[in-house]
Amino acid sequence: MNPHFLQTPLDYLKGIGPSRAKLLSSQLGLKTYQDLLHFFPNRYVDRSKFYKIASLQSTEAEVQIIGKITQIQKLGHQKGNRLVATFEDESGRMELVWFRGIKYIEEHLKLRTPYVVFGKLTSYAGTYSMPHPDMELLSTYEQSSHAGLQAIYPSTERLSKANLGNRFMMRCMQQLFSECGSSFSETLSKEILEHLKLLDRSIALYHIHFPKDTQMLARASARLKFEELFFIQLQLVRKNILRKKKIKGLPFHALGNYFNNFYSNHLPFELTNAQKRVIKEIRADVGSNAQMNRLLQGDVGSGKTIVAVMAILMAIDNGYQACLMAPTEILAQQHFQGVSELLRPLGLRVEILTGSVKKSARKPLLDSLKEGDIQVLIGTHALIEDPVIYKNLGLAIIDEQHRFGVAQRAKLWHKNALPPHILVMTATPIPRTLAMSVYGDLDLSVIDELPPGRKAIKTVWRSDQNRLKVFGFLKDEIAKGRQIYVVYPLINESEALDYKDLMDGYESISREFPMPQYQVSIVHGQMKADAKAYEMERFVKGETQIMVATTVIEVGVNVPNASVMLIESAERFGLSQLHQLRGRVGRGADQSFCILLSGNKVSKEGKTRLETMVATSDGFEIAEVDLKLRGPGDLMGTQQSGVLQLKIADILRDGDLLQKAREIAINLIKSDPELSKTNNKPILAAYLSLVKHKNIWNYIS
Ligand code: ADP
Ligand code: MG
Repeated sequence: MNPHFLQTPLDYLKGIGPSRAKLLSSQLGLKTYQDLLHFFPNRYVDRSKFYKIASLQSTEAEVQIIGKITQIQKLGHQKGNRLVATFEDESGRMELVWFRGIKYIEEHLKLRTPYVVFGKLTSYAGTYSMPHPDMELLSTYEQSSHAGLQAIYPSTERLSKANLGNRFMMRCMQQLFSECGSSFSETLSKEILEHLKLLDRSIALYHIHFPKDTQMLARASARLKFEELFFIQLQLVRKNILRKKKIKGLPFHALGNYFNNFYSNHLPFELTNAQKRVIKEIRADVGSNAQMNRLLQGDVGSGKTIVAVMAILMAIDNGYQACLMAPTEILAQQHFQGVSELLRPLGLRVEILTGSVKKSARKPLLDSLKEGDIQVLIGTHALIEDPVIYKNLGLAIIDEQHRFGVAQRAKLWHKNALPPHILVMTATPIPRTLAMSVYGDLDLSVIDELPPGRKAIKTVWRSDQNRLKVFGFLKDEIAKGRQIYVVYPLINESEALDYKDLMDGYESISREFPMPQYQVSIVHGQMKADAKAYEMERFVKGETQIMVATTVIEVGVNVPNASVMLIESAERFGLSQLHQLRGRVGRGADQSFCILLSGNKVSKEGKTRLETMVATSDGFEIAEVDLKLRGPGDLMGTQQSGVLQLKIADILRDGDLLQKAREIAINLIKSDPELSKTNNKPILAAYLSLVKHKNIWNYIS
């Protein structure tokens, strides 16, 4: 098959013509033969089975019946609103109904002639009826090669109104295959086909539209899904490798005194194996001549900070500065304290820069940074604002990446002649499959092991009626010397209603836990930064026992003595948010608890979320559920959702295939970077054609 032929506009396909082509293009985006060929069914119906009218039961599924029309009538307020045909087989009678195209249908229906009808049933007063049946004379039905499985294509109301429903789509497909001769060029190499036992492309394309049986359908679908994922991965992997070749990185050749001294003498605890592995991965990146672009995923509490510190020491050992960026002022403050403490014995200068650093203090700080007297700068996005000039920034670490935009990352990039190495840390457990498609051009490290000795957090779901009991429990915990978070949903910090919930909550907590026996802090987004910091500080020091807060405490805050997380109106939070919040406790040696309080009426989805929280504390498992509930687009934000508009593969269900596709793409590019080997010719041709026709790449980057 000449590949150019597939670029023919659909107008030329027999049975379509200009006006139908226009509709297909505007309704389904189908413009060429090729588009049609790759327009895949979204489901299949079993047409191997025939039903008798007397034995009809369900009104849900589609059924297929053989019978004859015995009578035709126009009914409705004004005659002609609807056309009703009485349809009989030897077991009983039912109705066929049309609301549109009545005139044409009436003229063409044949009385007392056997038909095969197919469609969904409705039932009214004991009589079944089938609106707008798909029908064919039994005689022609028997001649055509009707397989057991029939493809059902996505459609629109417009199309069915124009009588361009599934039957029309099937005719187009048949015509397409007869004009194209059922032979299409292969896009994968023999090795890959054999290795994965995949169907040839032509065979797969045929059976995706006209499956012989369920087994062939499964194989056809696997082959086409693999192909789709493979070419996306090929593109991402190539981009990654090209970047490494093209973008020179700052060479951190040696580990030196700082790193070694810290490692041997000042580590506050033994590293977990996962932490060691990730540090090695980072070491390998910065030691190569390419720029590091690594995403570090680790569940809350998995110990990403120490990994960041070790990476910072690699930079300093090689004469470079490092910066660490956090999404909020509170977090920047915590990082500053934590990192300063860790690095104190090494005599390094660590400073903090946030929006609330006073002008007078800012000037000398920026001067020292420019002189290179400051080795580590920690802060919020103030770190990348214009007046900030580094002497030689070698490493930028971004914590909690989902709060930072791509543009901000790019800004960092332009601070130097050579870009600094970049380490992005996130506690949002992105399912591996999704990470691979969205961040496929970043390298991925995962800390998949919690530090030893952590007790699992006990999570319970309680309804509002149990509030008093819950408060009693909180009092017991406080009596044991523990501290408590009480979190209110503030979906939108500016929303007055949510804000009122929070203030009411604060008041009722203050009443229930009165001074002077109890001290209650409050932190929310509408407070000034220094007031927030002050309240946080009181809680961190243990001066207050209860912290009433909104989700501003969601990320990163570390108070090991806090052992209870009470979440109000928990049904209103998203899963990943609930998980993040729960991660604030369970950081010390004591048994910790997470209490999810909800109203009585919880939606089905809300139930699933709360039940998931009770059932598991595995961040990745939670992320998978979240992904299923919300869909990938929503999870990643609209900006990246385009990445996931796949034609046939499903990012949720086809994780294994995606993994395979990625591995194979990596191996391929390693062994044949230019795809110049004879064996890989089909891959190269397909790749170039996809780039040229933008069939794939328009939803990448
Ligand atoms: P996160 O990944 O959420 O940023 P942190 O780096 O804040 O986690 O670490 C959480 C807590 O675990 C901190 O108190 C830290 O000191 C402690 N921690 C980290 N790694 C280890 C380890 N290997 N052994 C014991 N405790 C550790
Ligand atoms: Mg952290």
